Formats: sequence, C-alpha cells, structure tokens
Amino acid sequence: MTVETRRILIVEDEAQTRSVVEAYLEREGYWVTAVGDGERALQAFESHRYDGVVLDLNLPGLPGEEVCRRIRDVSDVPIIMLTAKGAEEERIAGLDLGADDYLVKPFSPRELVARLRALLRRAKSETEPQRSRVAYGPLEIDLAGHKVFVDGGEVDLTASEYKLLTTLSRYPGRVYSRMELVEKVLGYDFEGYERAIDSHIKNLRAKLDDDPKEPRFVHTVFGVGYRFEPPVSEQ
Ligand code: CA
Repeated sequence: MTVETRRILIVEDEAQTRSVVEAYLEREGYWVTAVGDGERALQAFESHRYDGVVLDLNLPGLPGEEVCRRIRDVSDVPIIMLTAKGAEEERIAGLDLGADDYLVKPFSPRELVARLRALLRRAKSETEPQRSRVAYGPLEIDLAGHKVFVDGGEVDLTASEYKLLTTLSRYPGRVYSRMELVEKVLGYDFEGYERAIDSHIKNLRAKLDDDPKEPRFVHTVFGVGYRFEPPVSEQ
C-alpha cells in the first residue's frame, strides 16, 4: 500500500509560530505550504489540493473568519483554527463557519499535530468504507459486492434504493432531511424531487420487510425526513 503524502496549508502571520508549526508538520512527514496572510492562503488553496488547513483567525488584511468561510464554500477539508486566549466569540464564529477544531495560543505544536492527525483520520473514514460488510441485526450490507441481505435472504435493490440505504445506515441515528437525501442519493436538488425520496423509501421498506408503523430500520422523522435506527442486537 502506498502512503500518500498529506498536504497541509498553514496560514499564520507571526513568523515564529509559522516556522515552528511548519517544522513540526514537516517532521511528521506532511507536505507543507506556509503563508502569512489570507489572500495568499486562498491563492494557494485554489492552485493545490490540500488535506488539511491550519488557520490563524487573527490575520492582517483578510480576516481568518473570511478565509475559513471561502474555503468552506468550496471544500470540506479539515480546518483547525488558531485563536487568541479569551477570544471566545471569534472561536464560536469560526466553528459556525465550518472550522472543525481550534487551539488557543500559546499551544503545543505536539497537540496541534495530534489534533490534525485525528481530523485527517476522520475525514478519511468518511470517504472510505472501513469494512466491506456491515451488519445491523437482521440486515446485512455487503459494501464491496453491493449486496443486501435481510433475515438471511438477499434482496434486490435498485441503485437508488441501495444508495439510500447506505447513506442512511452510515450514521445510524442521524436525521437526514428529504433535501439532503435528494442531493446525496439522486444528485439533483429541485424541490419537486423531495417527494421522489418518499417513494424510494416506500419501495426500500417493502423490500426490507420494514413496516413504517413498526420500523425495524428506517424511521420517519415527521416534518423533516428519515433516520436509520437498527434494532438493538440480541447477544
Ligand atoms: Ca495572528
């Protein structure tokens, strides 16, 4: 298995902090770009693919919050903010803008490395299935073979039904709005198609022998959408 070098963008105007962070991350084997202001950060972000961003919020010129917002507009890349001690509002604003984590200055570079590593791991597990086969009580999904089994028998799902089931079951208990499901499963976002999800759900339930009145797997969240909640397994 080849280990891909992770690319990290550091945005920090204080030269000393910047070079310390850069040195630490390089020593960890990351490929690092370090810039001192928001404009250069956005330029760098446009011209390269990055796996993580370390962003000082208190920057000269373009504020860090704005840099965060613009990156988030186009990318889900993990972002760790660096914030000043006591700057709580700044921190909350950053998290609201989609940053994933923050460190308060002065911070330990070792802690930054640990947090970054955790975020990169999480980002990776969200894009790659960890296991090729998952079981939720009487429901089994063979992710590698795109096969679904209920009560021991294989069920034949359409591509949309399969996508719907794997989307919902990936995070059991998480509520998905119809709109989210339209975007994730059908790939278009016209309001009229929200009802299309309902009919896919109906067909999926019939195939999974899942009674909407007493659901085993797919629960209706009234006024919102759906959530996957597998039965508690009897050990
Ligand atoms: Ca600063």
